[in-house]
Amino acid sequence: MMTEVQRDKTVLIIDDSPINIEHLAQVLKSEYNIKVANSGGPGIEVARNQSPDLILLDVVMPDMDGYEVCRRLKADDATRKIPIIFITTKNEMEDETLGLTLGAVDYITKPFRTPIVRARVRNHIQLKHNSDLLEKLAMIDALTNLPNRRRFEQILKREWARCRRSQEPLSIILLDIDHFKQFNDHYGHLAGDRCLSRVARALPIPLKRPADSVFRYGGEEFIAVLPETDHSVGLNLAEEMRAQVAKLLIPHAYSSTNHPYISVSLGVTTTTPNSRSTPRTLVQLADKMLYAAKNAGRNCVMGKVFNGETDYDLDPAGA
Ligand code: GH3
Ligand code: MG
Ligand code: MG
Repeated sequence: MMTEVQRDKTVLIIDDSPINIEHLAQVLKSEYNIKVANSGGPGIEVARNQSPDLILLDVVMPDMDGYEVCRRLKADDATRKIPIIFITTKNEMEDETLGLTLGAVDYITKPFRTPIVRARVRNHIQLKHNSDLLEKLAMIDALTNLPNRRRFEQILKREWARCRRSQEPLSIILLDIDHFKQFNDHYGHLAGDRCLSRVARALPIPLKRPADSVFRYGGEEFIAVLPETDHSVGLNLAEEMRAQVAKLLIPHAYSSTNHPYISVSLGVTTTTPNSRSTPRTLVQLADKMLYAAKNAGRNCVMGKVFNGETDYDLDPAGA
């Protein structure tokens, strides 16, 4: 019987023998989507483009053998986490050891017994599902459901590299709730938590790459990554964020601003990534801009373009 986890899972079979492919596909097709490749090169391509949940890999193939295919899949970030099971007639201990040393999760020898193949595939699909789920949960902030700081670091690094290659500007917005300590002190921590969730939901999500662009950075701080976004667009979006939070009209009688409601201050920085700066430089400057917004009375936006020079005292790049 098919379990919930198996639904929509894909198994890739890489084998040079059409008979073997047919046989394995027959065993598994009622439970999984099946993709096939009859040699290593195309198999690696399918793995890269389709991200299967498991790979059944033949060892003896002309051109590139299964061990080499496994080495390449494990060396590539896009495919390294896909579990690989070797299927082979080689059953010497050294062969099995080599396969497992290269990072395969299991080893099935031919001629195989159908129930064993089914059971092993099912177990490894379940394990992969569990580890994917854990990884996803580790990237999400439980209070606001926004991606968290760990995810932010990944995305900023990725977008930094992408904008560096394309020489497009990259902007970030750092946002901090004003006088949030007083809010907690007077209205209580639970009210503080509710306020954080409402602020998170009110933040407009930038149009580019919406899935991963606003993150909970820390306690009452949020950060947005805006690839291919110049400074004026970044400033406009920050202003829109400020206005949306102000519009919530969450009473805050103990705020020193001229707005007796919850407000936020925002710092914006933009740069076209090059060798003179790092993702960290951008975050540090956004933090300086945020500080300037706090000093300017809060409930406002401050920004600066970074073109390699700054008067600010920053930690060493890349530290
Ligand atoms: P400023 O306007 O200068 O930013 O002042 P502030 O009071 O907001 O800044 P400060 O850093 O002094 O205080 C931040 C407060 O945010 C302190 C902490 O209790 C609260 N906070 C951080 N994370 C959470 C959270 O998850 N829930 C709640 N309720 N409060 C939080
Ligand atoms: Mg803060
Ligand atoms: Mg604050």
